[in-house]
Amino acid sequence: MKVGILGGGQLAMMMIQSCIDDDIEFIVVDPSENPPADRYVSCIKSEFDNVDMLNKLSSACDVVTIDFENVPSSALKFLEEKIDVHPNSKAVETCQDRLKEKNLFKECGIPVTRYEKIDNLDELEALKSSFSSGSILKSRFFGYDGKNQVDLDVMDSETAFQNCGGGKLIIEEKVKFVKELSLIGARDKHGETVFYPLVENNHMNGILHTSLAPYNNGELQKKAQNYHRLLTSKMNYIGVLVIEFFLDHQNNLIANEMAPRVHNSGHWTIEGASISQFKAHIKTVLGEKITNVKVDKHAAMINIISKMPDLKLLNLSSLEKIYDYGKTERNSRKLGHITLVDKNRKRLLARIETLTKFINQKVC
Ligand code: AMP
Repeated sequence: MKVGILGGGQLAMMMIQSCIDDDIEFIVVDPSENPPADRYVSCIKSEFDNVDMLNKLSSACDVVTIDFENVPSSALKFLEEKIDVHPNSKAVETCQDRLKEKNLFKECGIPVTRYEKIDNLDELEALKSSFSSGSILKSRFFGYDGKNQVDLDVMDSETAFQNCGGGKLIIEEKVKFVKELSLIGARDKHGETVFYPLVENNHMNGILHTSLAPYNNGELQKKAQNYHRLLTSKMNYIGVLVIEFFLDHQNNLIANEMAPRVHNSGHWTIEGASISQFKAHIKTVLGEKITNVKVDKHAAMINIISKMPDLKLLNLSSLEKIYDYGKTERNSRKLGHITLVDKNRKRLLARIETLTKFINQKVC
């Protein structure tokens, strides 16, 4: 089988790694020089909307997927005329726009924080004071890792408006959350979904810092799975979809956003689950069925951001694994991660604390 991947970042790299022993060939396209997936396959250097490349890809592959949700949906639509594309262009288009995404959550009856569309400064000035718990201004498009968003409690409206791109924005009520959780599920072509346990996530300045699984809470797990099923059946979705939630003080899950792909909060599944999110994604987009996922230990992931740590200081054990994406160091850039597993949650938490001290996360 041949799988095309648009985007050759670390997610594509791990998708390929996860299927190294399977009879699957990958063709990866990325516009940048030396993307992380280059270690496993020689990536095709091309813009995602290059028609020649898309024609070649469609004749060579059985299915095309993505490692990056900002692939132009027109490219996915073009491919859809010829071959299977998962996730489909409509789902990707929805996830690219925070407004469409939140509207869909609402339509499916999934709780969201109050939000409004903002297209000019006057609208922002008029609405800002109506958000009693404070508000966050976000660009509708191309927002990730806390980029293109501003806390309106710490910046005046005009600067915030310009910093977020000067239009096509949304303003959101700030959620006073207890925790941030994510749910990863892989849906197959028959509409059956396998779920991973909820993951607890900690962010630093908008960037994911650590993930810890499982977050054991049967009631919340059931609720989150129900929301996931509502979304994926509405979007006719195949593959891995991840929903990020806030858990509020009343035990409500409030959907923040979703990712139509494998996710940073699921990296621990390589070492911590019977089948990783990467393999689950590839299997489901290829039309295979996954019957269940077993998680019988605690697992965590620490992101390495801005600067690679000194390996000698980390002194990693055999239960700890470091991934280096081979990227140049840059402030706020995800360069790699460490996964660790342990039967004992307390010991795992203590180890996270120790390791974090040696990982210089200069984020601004
Ligand atoms: P996002 O890009 O929407 O995932 O936001 C990045 C991070 O900013 C989230 O993981 C939260 O920690 C924080 N954040 C975003 N939106 C809100 C909100 N409405 N209320 C409180 N915190 C938020």
